[in-house]
Formats: sequence, C-alpha cells, structure tokens
Amino acid sequence: MLTTTSVLNAYDVALENFDAAADALELDNDTREMIKYPERVLTVSVPVRMDDGHIHRFEAYRVQHSSVRGPAKGGIRYHPQVTLDEVKALATWMTWKCAVVNIPFGGAKGGVTCDPKHMSQHELERMTRRYTSAILPLIGPEQDIPAPDVYTNPQTMAWIMDTFSMTKGYAIPGVVTGKPISLGGSLGRNEATGRGVFYTIQSACEHLKTPLKGARVVVQGFGNAGSIAAQLLHEAGAKIIAVSDSRACILDHNGLNIPELIHMKELTGHVEGFPESEPIEPEELLALECDILVPAALENMIHAENAPKVHARIVAEAANGPVTPAADRIFERNNVFLIPDILCNAGGVTVSYFEWVQDESHLFWEAKDVYNRLERVMKTAFRDVLKIHLEKKVSMRIAANMLGISRVAEAVKIRGIYP
Ligand code: NAD
Repeated sequence: MLTTTSVLNAYDVALENFDAAADALELDNDTREMIKYPERVLTVSVPVRMDDGHIHRFEAYRVQHSSVRGPAKGGIRYHPQVTLDEVKALATWMTWKCAVVNIPFGGAKGGVTCDPKHMSQHELERMTRRYTSAILPLIGPEQDIPAPDVYTNPQTMAWIMDTFSMTKGYAIPGVVTGKPISLGGSLGRNEATGRGVFYTIQSACEHLKTPLKGARVVVQGFGNAGSIAAQLLHEAGAKIIAVSDSRACILDHNGLNIPELIHMKELTGHVEGFPESEPIEPEELLALECDILVPAALENMIHAENAPKVHARIVAEAANGPVTPAADRIFERNNVFLIPDILCNAGGVTVSYFEWVQDESHLFWEAKDVYNRLERVMKTAFRDVLKIHLEKKVSMRIAANMLGISRVAEAVKIRGIYP
C-alpha cells in the first residue's frame, strides 16, 4: 500500500492553521479559548464477533468540535491509521468548513481504527451497529449528524440510521446524511464533494484566466471525491493524465478515458492495469507537469520534501489536510494557487445539509435543484474567500480559515456562556 511519508500530527496542523488565521483576524484570547478546542470527545471500545467466531475489539471515536452555529456535523472514517488526534483535526476542520459555506452546522467527526478491506460485509455491519450503539447518546438529527468519509458509504449510513431508529421505535432518516435515496437520501449527495471540487476549480480558472478546456489534470486518490471530480473535469474538456489509488498510480499523456476507468474501478476495486496506461511511482505522480493537481486521498500527502517538485498551477484540495503547513509555504513561494480543503471539498457537507433539510421537511428536491443550489453556495464561498485573500494579502488557506473562524467567533460572542 502507498502510505503517507510524513508523520506530522494532523491535529497539530489544524491548531497551527487556526492560530495563523486567528492572528490575522486579531482575535481576542477569550474568543480563541472558546472556539479553538473540541466541545466533546468520546472514545469507545467496539467488540465485534468476527466471522471465524472470535471477538475483536476495535477502538473508535466521535468528536464534536463545535455546536455553536447548529448541530455538529461530520463524517465517519474506517481506516487502519485512524487516531484520536486525526479525528479531532477532521472535526475542527468541519467547523470552519460549515461556516465557510455558511450552513447552520457545527463540526464533528468519527472514526474506527480498522481495516475494512479485510473485513466481510457481515463484520462491517456488526461493527457499524455496535459503534452506533456506543455513540448513541451523542448523535441525533438536532445534535450530531454523521455522514460517509473514507471507506464508509451509503450502506454504512443505512446501518447507522436503522440502529438509531430501532432504539427510538420509529424511522429517523435525519440522523445521518449520505444515505441511500430509498431511505431519504438526497439526489446528488453521492457526487456532491467531487462536484463542489469541480465548481471551485472552475472559479479558480476564471480568476487566473486559465482555460479549463485542455488543462492537464492529475488526481491522487481515485475514490468518491477524486473520481467524480475527474469525471466532471473530463466532461468539461480537461485532460486527466494520471490518477492513483492505494495500490497503484497510472499515467496516460493522451488523457485517461475517465468513464471507462470509473467502470473498471467499480468492477475490480482498483485502477491498476487500465488499458493504454503506464504504471508510475507515487512521487512521480505528484511531480508530473500539469495545470491542476487534485489531492483526493488522505492527510499530509504533500509535504516539505515533495512540494518543491509540484509543477501544477492550481492545487485543489479535495481531501482534508493533504498539504502540510511547510508545503503551503513552498506553494506560496512558487506561486501555486491553492484551493484549501475547507472551501474546495465543502460540496459534500453542503448537500448533506440539503439532505437534512429535505428529511426534516419531508419534501424532496429534483437533482437540478440540488446542483443549482450547490453551485451557488460553492461559487459564493469561493468569491468570499478570494476577496479576503486579495484584500488582506493572505494565503487562500488563511483567508478561508479567517472567514470560517470569524463566523463562529461572531456566533459564540452573541450566545455568551451558559450557565
Ligand atoms: P474514498 O474511500 O471513496 O476514496 C479514497 C481513495 O483514496 C481510494 O481510492 C483509495 O484507494 C485512495 N487512497 C488511499 N490511500 C492512498 C494513497 N496513499 N495514495 C493514493 N491513493 C490513496 O474516500 P473519499 O470519500 O473520496 O475521501 C477522500 C478524501 O476526501 C478524504 O480526505 C476525505 O476526508 C475527503 N472528503 C470526502 C468527502 C465525501 O463526501 N466523501 C467530503 C469531504 C472531504
């Protein structure tokens, strides 16, 4: 498996990003103390009877970073490298992200340290249901609303929704988003993150006066976020020359046939061996001559050692935290235009919000309404962040954090402290 080379702690990165933006905002110390740290952190043991009869105990977490502006909101990740600090970092980013796109949610995240690729569907179902029981006191449509993240999907959400609903005695679809449509999911949720990434790339190209048609694109991580972004970029006339997943990196200078690659990934689970492509090393992928690089895998993939080799004009962070602070500084020096994660990948949580609104109102929208509203939200957020970037002469990352943090700060000041 291709792994991150850096051992940087994602939560340290989240706190460093917060401090940089809070300094730029000249935020007072009292407000910093109130909004910087998670409100609630829960660690649970999840015992699961495995298919061979033995019991395996998984360590799992749910972190609510903020409920100042509304219910805490954030995905659940299943991955062998999940740690409490990673979940705290992801929950923190969710708070600023929801505020950047101005939806009435706070931030949360969950994670189970497990290797889902080596578990059966039955084992995954038992683990999901027991984890849901363990975090039950924290979640609910008005409290904290989970969603999919790395290696979780609509089926995982269906199990969570069912477990939660059975304990209450009636169906409560609004407890999770990213559900199957048949359970109250929203049209357009599955592709929302990739679509949001695409809209922000369109806005960046307009700002930089760079044509999207014919642009060469590299995508690291061909999962939900990465493959949908690739598909929409491909449809807009960009050329996706290389992609990777956890097993392989593939290159085709003439442009990969993305619909066929998605079809192959659905059938085989990986991109390795795609016809007409050649295999390359992960570090070569990041160093390819291209116009747009989309890191869509995990945290800390682009760091001080490999950032100087990145030749892209635009880096669009579909993943959360893929670029370290040291790499940020290198990108600034090299005039790389960064679309920061809390802006770039906010399409997922935005359509999650639309899903929750539909569930709560029992009235469902057409796909075109979802896409139109999403485009409006993403392009408004891009414009708001760009304005701060240009006016305050700060990086796009600091600008996005300034926008998110200032909205949460304003809300916490108006609410005050109870009791
Ligand atoms: P996913 O599980 O669908 O896809 C992840 C992909 O990354 C897989 O193809 C996997 O093979 C690949 N990958 C894993 N390790 C890799 C490595 N070392 N090198 C290259 N590829 C690797 O997950 P996803 O939902 O697409 O999430 C990807 C990123 O996007 C995460 O950072 C996640 O937090 C972020 N994100 C996802 C959503 C969403 O709605 N799905 C929303 C916001 C942010």
